[in-house]
Amino acid sequence: MEKDPPHVLLVNPWIDDFAAYDFWAKPVGLLTIGSILKMHGYRPRYVDCLDRFHSGLSRRPERGPFGKGSYLKTRISKPRKLHDIPRHYSRYGMPESLVRKVISSGPQPAAVLVTSLMTYWYPGVIALIKVVRELFPGIPVVLGGIYATLCHEHAVQHSGADTVLPGVCEAKLLDFLGDLTGRKGTLRFDPGELDTYPYPAFELQSAIPYLPVLTGRGCPFRCAYCASAFLSPGLRRRSPNHVIEEISYWHEKHAVVDFVFYDDALLIDSEKHIVPILEGVMRRSLQIHFHTPNALHIRPLSREVAGLLFQVGFKTIRLGLETAFFDDRQTMDSKVEPGEFEQAVAYLREAGFEGEDLGAYLLHGLPGQDLSKLEYSIKMVKACGVRPILAQYSPIPHTGLWHEAVKASRYDLEEDPLFHNNSIFPCRKAPFSWEEVRYLKDLVQEQAPGE
Ligand code: SF4
Repeated sequence: MEKDPPHVLLVNPWIDDFAAYDFWAKPVGLLTIGSILKMHGYRPRYVDCLDRFHSGLSRRPERGPFGKGSYLKTRISKPRKLHDIPRHYSRYGMPESLVRKVISSGPQPAAVLVTSLMTYWYPGVIALIKVVRELFPGIPVVLGGIYATLCHEHAVQHSGADTVLPGVCEAKLLDFLGDLTGRKGTLRFDPGELDTYPYPAFELQSAIPYLPVLTGRGCPFRCAYCASAFLSPGLRRRSPNHVIEEISYWHEKHAVVDFVFYDDALLIDSEKHIVPILEGVMRRSLQIHFHTPNALHIRPLSREVAGLLFQVGFKTIRLGLETAFFDDRQTMDSKVEPGEFEQAVAYLREAGFEGEDLGAYLLHGLPGQDLSKLEYSIKMVKACGVRPILAQYSPIPHTGLWHEAVKASRYDLEEDPLFHNNSIFPCRKAPFSWEEVRYLKDLVQEQAPGE
């Protein structure tokens, strides 16, 4: 390592929302950039505004099972445009005073890289960039991530960043930093070949309570409500051995036990992908757990795959059912056919999964959704002995359903990404009844007779 490599500050910003919880969420893209920067001779420093484990916290938020847990939160005023929503609004993450202290305790960086997630969380991004500007005046701030990609123009106009880089941007970022620092050189990885990427720099976190693993990027389907095809065109994958080595590395070197697959298409082409990955993990006799909060595809869940998932230690299985009503489904997606959900559940049960292990997502709040069909879907999922989980629909620009969502909404979705927030059910027309939301949530909780 050279004597004084350029410092680069990476920041994961706050979340401003009505609710937020750490369901194993980490900014894998930003942490991958961290390891790429190391690979190219920079010294990255990482500040996670959502850190639940920072030594400077005066109280630690509540810890949940398998590494999940609550974020700290500070009640803040609701954005004016959301005044009609009868809920409190908060900034989730470390208090601003601690974030300022942590950021300013490091050396002056050559640049600050900020990531972004949900489009409607942009107020937390803007607030963070403002803090960075005050602490490091004149230092370039670069914004990337999902909001920066889906709402590029909005981010350029409002975020306060000097540069907004949409999409997959590692090579562009190295060019940008090279111009800034005079550090030019050849790329030490191939952006078209995922096996040449270094592992994300999770070691920069103050703790590693769980580890998200991406075995690939993208999805072969084009569901009308999903932005996967826009964010990660095509399906690209790492080789099974590369994934097995990464899982072993984090378990052996950092004692990580809970691994979380965030792939969009984990089970697709399973014989060549997930089966050899899981068989490889079993051969190494690693005592670990797996979780799939990003829904699994139902169709490829064969008896063999279900058996492997159970044997290798999957603890949380989430299935992407979306609706159990198939008559008009083809305009939305084609990922499940009638009978496939019941068959997959039967295989999972036969393998040994039970109760809370299994959950099925059902979309709630779609434009023009007939709630009697959602009611039917909840009952059908429960009848299969699986927990229905209402996935509140968030309208996303660049998706097939976007224009319909814009027409259906009681807000101007194109004017402000705040209105994409799924907590406000933006695609339910006025007059909107929160009673209906309560009724459906109660229906999910309600026990069946004899349960
Ligand atoms: S299958 Fe899942 S990840 Fe793929 S497009 Fe549909 S919702 Fe998105």
